[in-house]
Amino acid sequence: MEDRRLRLSLVVPCYNERETLPGFHREVTKELALADVDYEIVFVDDGSSDGTREILRGLAGADRRVRFLSLSRNFGQEAAILAGLKSAAGDAVVIMDADLQHPPALIHTMLKHFRAGCDQVVARRTRTGEGRLYTLAARVYYKLVNRLLDVRLLNGASEFRLIGRTALDALLSLEEYSRFSRGLFTWIGFDQVVIDYENVVRTSGASKWNLRKRFDYGLDGIMSFNNKPLRLAIYIGLFFTGIAALYMFWAIGDAIVNGVDSPGYTTLLTAIVGLGGMQMIMLGIIGEYLGRVYYESKRRPHFLVREADGEQPWEAERQR
Ligand code: UDP
Ligand code: MG
Repeated sequence: MEDRRLRLSLVVPCYNERETLPGFHREVTKELALADVDYEIVFVDDGSSDGTREILRGLAGADRRVRFLSLSRNFGQEAAILAGLKSAAGDAVVIMDADLQHPPALIHTMLKHFRAGCDQVVARRTRTGEGRLYTLAARVYYKLVNRLLDVRLLNGASEFRLIGRTALDALLSLEEYSRFSRGLFTWIGFDQVVIDYENVVRTSGASKWNLRKRFDYGLDGIMSFNNKPLRLAIYIGLFFTGIAALYMFWAIGDAIVNGVDSPGYTTLLTAIVGLGGMQMIMLGIIGEYLGRVYYESKRRPHFLVREADGEQPWEAERQR
């Protein structure tokens, strides 16, 4: 590679972040001025309805290192990040939330690891200030998922990470429609370093995640890797069939020895309801996979862009 400064792209998904953006831009530029890099900031407006787009137009107009894409509607954080990654041109890309919950100062540490030859740097937050119950649920979830389903998800890892060009191109070559990017980042491999940071509580605007969304996201994490849940369903099925068989033998034996005298409505009802529920869950799992196949087969784009502004700063150089 010719002798030039490292090019860093910052990818920032924004959904209704009007209030946080000016502060974010100020903080980040301040921090990046200290790093020995050429940088661009790629904001992706994920179909905001609060005038985020106007703010971004302003930022792109005032700072030539800022550009933005605006998606035609709200496609979700995953899609917004993907849009930014596809458009980013740097040797390395840092993905970061717009709400300053990801401390910009960590970029220096990430760059240090990248310069030392690491392809991916993941920031993992402590869960301070997140609520006991939620923290516990997260701990159990990650334990279970990693044990049972043979995936390696990191508790507390966020979208805040650096990814080098080689790994990024690998990531972008995965074209699946249902993207669970935390999993994909792990799946592609390459050298990865984890750095820890203290959780920061959001100061302005509101979180776009409610309990339901988090639950869905957790389910996505389980479903989007492999067919282990289907396997699990088979084992659970076998387990209960076994129990039922044992019970049947016992009941027959009991009837022969003691005669037929067994109302046993409760047992019966429990078994019916329990097994019915179990079957519903199994069917749901199968249906979930089928649904995924359905979506994949449509081959729809992950996002649609309505407006883009700001010039990619290295374009001119590349064309020479
Ligand atoms: N975000 C997005 N699209 C969405 C939801 C969120 O682009 O549909 C962005 C949001 O603007 C923020 C980041 O994703 O920059 C993380 O969202 P948020 O802070 O609400 O999540 P939390 O930090 O509470 O997990
Ligand atoms: Mg946040």
